[in-house]
Amino acid sequence: MYQANEQGFYGEFGGAYIPEILYSCVLELQQTYLQVIESKEFQTEYHELLRDYVGRPSPLYHAKRLSERYGAKIYLKREDLNHTGAHKINNTIGQILLAKHMGKTRIIAETGAGQHGVATATVCALMNLPCVVYMGKLDVERQQPNVKKMEMLGATVVPVTSGNMTLKDATNEAIRDWCSHPSDTFYIIGSTVGPHPYPDMVARLQSVISAEVKEQLQEKEGRSHPDYLMACVGGGSNAAGTVYHYLDDNRVKITLAEAAGKGVDSGESAATIHLGTEGIIHGSRTLLMQTPDGQIVEPYSISAGLDYPGIGPLHAHLARSGRAQILAVDDDEAIRAAFELTQLEGIIPALESSHALGALPKMKFKASDVVVLTLSGRGDKDMDTYLRYFNR
Ligand SMILES: *Cc1c(COP(=O)(O)O)cnc(C)c1O
Repeated sequence: MYQANEQGFYGEFGGAYIPEILYSCVLELQQTYLQVIESKEFQTEYHELLRDYVGRPSPLYHAKRLSERYGAKIYLKREDLNHTGAHKINNTIGQILLAKHMGKTRIIAETGAGQHGVATATVCALMNLPCVVYMGKLDVERQQPNVKKMEMLGATVVPVTSGNMTLKDATNEAIRDWCSHPSDTFYIIGSTVGPHPYPDMVARLQSVISAEVKEQLQEKEGRSHPDYLMACVGGGSNAAGTVYHYLDDNRVKITLAEAAGKGVDSGESAATIHLGTEGIIHGSRTLLMQTPDGQIVEPYSISAGLDYPGIGPLHAHLARSGRAQILAVDDDEAIRAAFELTQLEGIIPALESSHALGALPKMKFKASDVVVLTLSGRGDKDMDTYLRYFNR
């Protein structure tokens, strides 16, 4: 009921709205991805790398002091402990293996904050494939440490000067590159967005998160399902991985946090599900922030990983169908939550993950509730922002 159909639709959302020149490569990918991903050879190589290179399974940690604060039993799924510091590597490992199976010799990617760019440059170094990362010029300037990492890893970072010079423009440029080199190039998309099969493919590659949660909960709680799953949503990949194996289990409530920036009604937010209307962005039909005449509204969030004007089609469907509750968490609430987790548990979360934590005060738990909240990444990259608040 919540899986993509043959054409990549989740209810009314999804599909593949692409320029004609890309038709044959998207079709090739659609016809290949499932067969490869489900093959024994792929699964063996993928899981070996997740174990020995990424460091999986990531722990499911019972956060006792945080639990006391919110009156429920809260577990953190520790994607922050992965190699490169976030969940994104689960996806890039899978896609680069697929690229190799398909005989592609050149990798391209888009990146906003640089996290997906670093995860892609990392697996390209590992597999000895050339890598070009498109990044808005503004993001290149404000995310220098990640730009340096990508360059050290051997990637070419191309600053994009069109539009507002941020993620949306970098994505457009990556699609343009793909159109010019359709036969030898594999485009590694970083979230559950883009034309079919990307949303489904990325969700499957991230689904290792909920597969592990099931086993870990069984061991710790004697039952494999929680009462609540919580995650932040930018494009939706860590959330998709968190909920994947529980989508049809109605005992499990799903709460997703999107970035409200300076407030949902402030004109400066990235609360796509609260504010968005149906439209097409980067190849799929989904909810997006746009003006009445269809111009994309520039998103804002303190967290660079959440300020995307669209949302994955799966998540648009989960919201519309009522399967998931969507809470908007603003900059200040996220910062407060980050300091709270640091002080209670000794864990500095990524700003994106802080939005999921920032949803905790808005919840009404029973003492017996088991909550699994995905900590999508670690906060090293966000220290400048945190310290600016700390010294205020
Ligand atoms: C990129 C990123 C996100 C947002 O992307 P999703 O696809 O929505 O998961 C969230 N957390 C971290 C740490 C990120 O790097």
